[in-house]
Amino acid sequence: MKVLVLGSGVIGVTTAWYLAKAGNEVTVVDRLDTPATETSYANAGMLSFDYSTPWGAPGVPLKAIKWMMQDISPLYFDVRCFDANTIGWMMKMLAQCSSQAFDVNKERMLRVAHYSAKCFRELNTELKLDYDVRMKGTLEVFRSQKELDGSASDVEILQRCNVPHEMVDVEGCVDHEPALGNVKEKIVGGLYLPGDGTGDCYKFTNGLAKECRKLGVEFKMGTEIHSIETTKGKVSSLQTSAGEMKADKYVLALGSHAPNLARRIGINLPIYPLKGYSLTMPIIDESKAPVSTVMDQKYKVAVTRFDDRIRVGGIAEIANFNKELNLKRRKAIEFTVKDLFPGAGDVDGAEFWAGLRPMTPDSVPILGNTKYDNLILNCGHGTLGWTMSLGASRHVASLVNGTTSDLDSDGLSIARYG
Ligand SMILES: Cc1cc2nc3c(=O)[nH]c(=O)nc-3n(C[C@H](O)[C@H](O)[C@H](O)COP(=O)(O)OP(=O)(O)OC[C@H]3O[C@@H](n4cnc5c(N)ncnc54)[C@H](O)[C@@H]3O)c2cc1C
Repeated sequence: MKVLVLGSGVIGVTTAWYLAKAGNEVTVVDRLDTPATETSYANAGMLSFDYSTPWGAPGVPLKAIKWMMQDISPLYFDVRCFDANTIGWMMKMLAQCSSQAFDVNKERMLRVAHYSAKCFRELNTELKLDYDVRMKGTLEVFRSQKELDGSASDVEILQRCNVPHEMVDVEGCVDHEPALGNVKEKIVGGLYLPGDGTGDCYKFTNGLAKECRKLGVEFKMGTEIHSIETTKGKVSSLQTSAGEMKADKYVLALGSHAPNLARRIGINLPIYPLKGYSLTMPIIDESKAPVSTVMDQKYKVAVTRFDDRIRVGGIAEIANFNKELNLKRRKAIEFTVKDLFPGAGDVDGAEFWAGLRPMTPDSVPILGNTKYDNLILNCGHGTLGWTMSLGASRHVASLVNGTTSDLDSDGLSIARYG
């Protein structure tokens, strides 16, 4: 079967991999020259199989008001960029902040993430891709007793979901992350999740793209998709800058841009481009650097270790498609790495980057069939697209192939939005 995969981010490339392995003739189409150069380029690098949690949670609306008063904050609004779509999406997100919705969404995210963890284990055995991978867990650190006490509800959920975890005191934090020994007075304890990992999503995606090519996948790069054409309940072709393209089936994996083309064929995807930032710096003193991922609970900033680099990522900025590099935000994420790992990396020489998370109101990706027989969705992976990539894409490949998926699809498709 001939399949066109729209998009060469981590989601498009992992989809192509599973489709090609199943013997399909696969072409990936993207307007950029290299895979993973949009949102999949410099994310925080966390493989958060166990730390997966919806951003819409009880208490978040109140916290958001408090964050708006803070100089260094996990959340910013750029009201210059607000439009009806932005306000509509924010309303939908607020509606997901009840404890009932949170429980449902958390279960769905964990279901995809845990299936993805299994797929990562298998792929790591099969391919030995070089992507600076380390499976050494996530340590969430608390800066005050109030924050630590506030983690009780998270811990209860982890227990309920059978997620391995450990509450640790300051010495326990230092056991997992020895460099925190230099700043013991700044933390009061932590929550350790041993099942998580770290790595470079760009290297992963391009390594996998190379393997895809070996299986015969064609990458049509530098090709803008202008429109999806439909006839008699099916997609008939794509109109692109390289002319018309046709296949038996089509997988939509355009990240934050998926709604733009989908809307024109009557599919409304509630995906918002939630802006985030990262810094990537060379390590200058190994003994002061993290060994895995350290999440600063107060500022929601992740400091992640790659082989010879440190990545710091975070911030949710509601700014529509504006990708401008705001230097105030840079200062905000710099704070965590300078404060918790002083002297570890060359902060001034860091690469500063902004990306748009393809965010759904419930934080759950949109995976599955559409009203068009031959169009399948693999989009809306939000804050944890790399973590979920292999699981989501293997599931979507099963739908394309018409085979049974090992992942329970309940509540994952666009149908949940009515
Ligand atoms: C600051 C930040 C930190 C993050 N941290 C993590 C993390 O630690 N762990 C994690 O798992 N996830 C993280 N994420 C989320 C993760 O990066 C995303 O969910 C994931 O990269 C989305 O992948 P994608 O393939 O759907 O989108 P993209 O990577 O954006 O790919 C979409 C592709 O579609 C192409 N495209 C769009 N429109 C068209 C068109 N009309 N024609 C042709 N091509 C088109 C684009 O060029 C692009 O290549 C983070 C994101 C950000 C911003």
